[in-house]
Amino acid sequence: MKQYVIGVDLGGTKVEACLMDNQRNVLARYRRLVRTLGEMDEVLKDIDAVIKQAAGNQSFSAVGIGTPGTYVAEEDRLFGSPNSLIYETPGFIGKLREMLTVPLVVENDANCLALAEYFASCEDKYRYVMGVIIGTGMGYGLILDGKLYRGARGGAGEIGHTTIDYNGRLCGCGRKGCAEAYLSGPSMCRRFYEASGQQLDVPGIYALYRAGDAQAIELFEQSLRIMGEIFANVINALDLEAIILGGGVSNLPIWYERLGPFIKKSLFGVPRGDIPVIPARLGDSAGVIGAAYLALRHLGVMNF
Ligand SMILES: [Zn+2]
Repeated sequence: MKQYVIGVDLGGTKVEACLMDNQRNVLARYRRLVRTLGEMDEVLKDIDAVIKQAAGNQSFSAVGIGTPGTYVAEEDRLFGSPNSLIYETPGFIGKLREMLTVPLVVENDANCLALAEYFASCEDKYRYVMGVIIGTGMGYGLILDGKLYRGARGGAGEIGHTTIDYNGRLCGCGRKGCAEAYLSGPSMCRRFYEASGQQLDVPGIYALYRAGDAQAIELFEQSLRIMGEIFANVINALDLEAIILGGGVSNLPIWYERLGPFIKKSLFGVPRGDIPVIPARLGDSAGVIGAAYLALRHLGVMNF
């Protein structure tokens, strides 16, 4: 029997939805800007419109939704999405459930992305994988023994706020030395500006690195070292097999060409081969695809 689900990616400024069948085929996608600063009812109406547009005439059995922040099931509420506070409002998820009338599964967007990318490049190959997203922030989704790992309250995945130096750079979270304070796109730009006085975006700094600029080389050598240490910390703690990298910063070839040895030299314990660092493949579709997988899992079609 054919079954259909909807995946939704709830962003800070836009909402995207896809229609997926039970063979994991994406049949339609639709995206539009939303008024996340408006009244709750207006925002809900926008989300409903995006879902209806993606579904067309097809009826569907469940909806999965990827959100900024962390979904805490006991309170049926999101926490930690300071850029889109409306989503955190108590009752928001409940109203969304009422509006949809079919089962709704809610999950953090980094987890959705990691799930989609895991099935795109690691299924049948690896069972212990982290999908790291480095863009304006840094987070990850963990797949352990082929299952999405959420932790006790759904808060697993804050790799960006693990520290490499308790006297290090001040992070937006208030702690010092967090990975995000070095490796997010804005942090890399700030570090380069402090060293060189030049205001460039990450691809601009990378172009200087390729051209042999000493300060750009220094920045990337340090960044490789930091990323290698952070990833090795997680691999040593959880015994992972592979890393998927996504997000804006991940688009540079340097991580795939050079990061491996930086990780390997800090691994401890059991013998391990090279830990593959795999580029994300799905681009900005990953969020909606992972969200739709949640709905398929709810229907018993997928197991993770
Ligand atoms: Zn932090």
